Amino acid sequence: MLHIGLTGGIGSGKSSVSRRLAELGAVIVDADVLAREVVEPGQPALEQIRERFGDAVFGADGALDRPALGRVVFGDPQALAALEGITHPAIWRRTAQTFAAARASGTRVGVHDMPLLVEKGMAGEYHLVVVVDTDEDTRVRRLVEDRGMPEAEARSRIAAQATDAQRRAVADVLLDNNGTPDDLVAAVDRVWRERLVPCADHLADEVPARAPQDLVLEEPDPEWAATAARVMARLRHRLEGLAVTVDHIGSTAVPMYAKPIIDLQVGVASLEDADSAPFVQAVREGGWPRIEAITEDTPKGANRGRQRWAKRYHLGTDPAVPVHVHVREVGSPGWRWALLLRDWLSAEPGARADYRAEKERLAAAGLRRAEYAAAKEPWFDSVHERVEAWACETGWSPSGAPGPTGA
Ligand code: ADP
Repeated sequence: MLHIGLTGGIGSGKSSVSRRLAELGAVIVDADVLAREVVEPGQPALEQIRERFGDAVFGADGALDRPALGRVVFGDPQALAALEGITHPAIWRRTAQTFAAARASGTRVGVHDMPLLVEKGMAGEYHLVVVVDTDEDTRVRRLVEDRGMPEAEARSRIAAQATDAQRRAVADVLLDNNGTPDDLVAAVDRVWRERLVPCADHLADEVPARAPQDLVLEEPDPEWAATAARVMARLRHRLEGLAVTVDHIGSTAVPMYAKPIIDLQVGVASLEDADSAPFVQAVREGGWPRIEAITEDTPKGANRGRQRWAKRYHLGTDPAVPVHVHVREVGSPGWRWALLLRDWLSAEPGARADYRAEKERLAAAGLRRAEYAAAKEPWFDSVHERVEAWACETGWSPSGAPGPTGA
């Protein structure tokens, strides 16, 4: 099941989006609704709240007095942590149960409607994050006119949340809601059809995103780094305890003239970790199935022919974002070379110009994408000594490596 995080600032129109997604067939878990359900009469969390906070936060009818509780925890981090320690486990349990039931009944898309997704740093937990984006003044006007909220309260609530820029940074899909409600529904329908359903299908069938077979080279795109950062957050989340390093590598990381493919490198302590059942399950569920046929890199420079540079190789399933994941042992020559080549190209304009000229030469020769990778090897060999000399001169060491590298 494709797991989507849906968020947006207060008054952005998130509820309208989640309603439409439900109509289209998604199962929705609304974090606010669950937060209220776990403190309904008869719920275990309610008794725990009474033990911790006393009768003062209960009304005469025995129900929780939410405003009174709000006043008790407001500005008191310890009290807030105690309250969350009671309610959060119950909320997470229900969330997991609802999604598990949806998955078991064959639902293809599960949506977590989560106002505080950004504030809680949860973006990495989802296959995709959808953000509803609406100008602050429009949101204030709608909160005042539709919900009867005083303007000052609307503004102070907005100020207490993450900024629009913070939300945009984690958005795989940005839904603009400055237009009419019909515009919003049309935008949701389009995203459903063009992005969410294809993504869910590829994930379920473990079909990698298809990069164009013809060799397409593009000028550097400022979006590459942001896209890579979002996918890396997902890899780090899924591979917690299994991945030692996660880095954006390759030409899109430099960035320079390149195929628009996000190459990522996961460093593992041992390739045995990459072959372990938890790793294989985590990458499959995350949407990066393993390509069994590829198990090594071509060694560079003087090592050519004398060493094996073993790796594991995975492809992303989001059809909109071609992602290649190279899994290599931390400190191994192949792991180090990927980082070194990236940093050398980033630091040396002349190196970028030479590499670009080689790419253009190969593209002009009419190479297909599949032939292109192998055809670049002689160029890597030809620059290997230059790259190592640069590493020596600059005292380069691979960032993200644990401890001394001996490089
Ligand atoms: P959120 O759930 O993000 O806090 P809502 O979905 O409740 O926000 O939207 C806030 C208010 O704005 C609601 O009253 C909603 O009906 C209204 N609204 C949402 N989208 C639009 C729109 N495109 N045009 C006009 N009003 C809208």
